[in-house]
Amino acid sequence: MEVISISSHSRNLAFFNWPDASKAALKEGSTIVWPFGACEQHGPHLPLITDTLFAESVLFEVLERLPKDLPIWSLPSQSIGFSPEHLGFPGTLSLPGTLMMEIVGEIGKQLANMGFQRLVLFNAHGGQIGLLQAIARELRIQCPSISVLPCFLWSGVDELRDLIPNKEVEQGLHAALAETSLMLSFDPDLVGDSRPFDGDSKNYGNSNMEVPSGWSLEGAAPCAWLTNELSQSGVIGDSRGANSQLGDSLRRVLVEHWEELFLNLMKSKWPPVDSSKKLNTNNS
Ligand SMILES: [Zn+2]
Repeated sequence: MEVISISSHSRNLAFFNWPDASKAALKEGSTIVWPFGACEQHGPHLPLITDTLFAESVLFEVLERLPKDLPIWSLPSQSIGFSPEHLGFPGTLSLPGTLMMEIVGEIGKQLANMGFQRLVLFNAHGGQIGLLQAIARELRIQCPSISVLPCFLWSGVDELRDLIPNKEVEQGLHAALAETSLMLSFDPDLVGDSRPFDGDSKNYGNSNMEVPSGWSLEGAAPCAWLTNELSQSGVIGDSRGANSQLGDSLRRVLVEHWEELFLNLMKSKWPPVDSSKKLNTNNS
């Protein structure tokens, strides 16, 4: 199977002319989905653009499955994100967090001014989850007419627990079993031959660093880790068992999960009140 770019898709707002974009913005429930990825190292076997391709490819399949009359469109991807943890590896490009906040705040404001009512930040890079959540709250205050939903591709997908080990689900490991397998499903030509096992808390590639007891790389009590302190290969976790059958299963559960969530969102009246009036008088 091949990666299909959403850039060629009729649901991509950037392919509209301006009168059609204007009509789209003014539809009841008009919703924009902005894919967020990264340009960052993904071990010696996956491309820098891995997260961006995942966000685009899953979103493309989800939008294809939604009823054609729903007022939901994508934007071109934000393919350079906030990836300071991977800067120790060549090829990684990262924007400062403050600049990310400015970019998303500015584009969000422009979308709100056009009349769009919802903005989903559809993110596939685990290192910018918190940042996008913070931006979403700020934007919500600054532009009360648009509701902002920052989500992460791999979060909240219960079926993943049947497919990959709990540790990888909980700690959001990097370029390991899940990401390598998913890429084998979308485009095996982009996956190299090596399958590193590295940077895992039981198997540090280049140091005696150990996460303190009760703390973790991600999850409940996370450490703000830098990849090159934990891993020589750039992988955090175990990619040895990756295979395309697992990738196909991951792809199916991700697409089905996000299809359901987008359908629920489009059926809903979210946000619940005329928030522009409420937030102006109550900023607590
Ligand atoms: Zn990734």
